[in-house]
Amino acid sequence: MSISASQSPSPAADGTAPAGTTVTDRLVTANAQYADAFSDPGMDARPVLKVAVVACMDARLDLHAALGLELGDCHTIRNAGGVVTDDIIRSLTISQRALGTRSVVLIHHTDCGLLGLTEDFRHDLAAEVGQRPTWAVEAFKDLDEDVRQSMERVRTSPFLLHKDDVRGFVFDVTTGLLREIFPQR
Ligand SMILES: [Zn+2]
Repeated sequence: MSISASQSPSPAADGTAPAGTTVTDRLVTANAQYADAFSDPGMDARPVLKVAVVACMDARLDLHAALGLELGDCHTIRNAGGVVTDDIIRSLTISQRALGTRSVVLIHHTDCGLLGLTEDFRHDLAAEVGQRPTWAVEAFKDLDEDVRQSMERVRTSPFLLHKDDVRGFVFDVTTGLLREIFPQR
């Protein structure tokens, strides 16, 4: 039922097709300009710095700029909250075992959308649509504690090869600074 992003926008009332009326059209236009200036860097798929960064999908978090990363340097794996779910472990496992990364950096951030949610979100959703999600919301109230929890999930995963360089941080969206979170005791 949903409209594919690749379809042209609907014609206007007068029958003319408006150009670039959706946000996706805007992105496609920007891509054409990007490709014009792009030259194949000839890179391998293996990240140059051998690091995987797991972070929240938050729009205010520009990982490459914030961490001084260049194209090809790292894997970026993002979801709501930067929570270490099974799918994040799947990506990290492929990142390490097939593509040679060794270090893991976990980044949560201040003012995260997940801080205001509870598992009620999931129950309300099930009541509304008549189907219980298979996933947990993974909401949290304590940022630092959730970073610790995420580090622990990485460090205890049986699938990962490299767990000696796993560090976690909270990114402050108002200052741009990272604050490192250390495991307790
Ligand atoms: Zn967030």
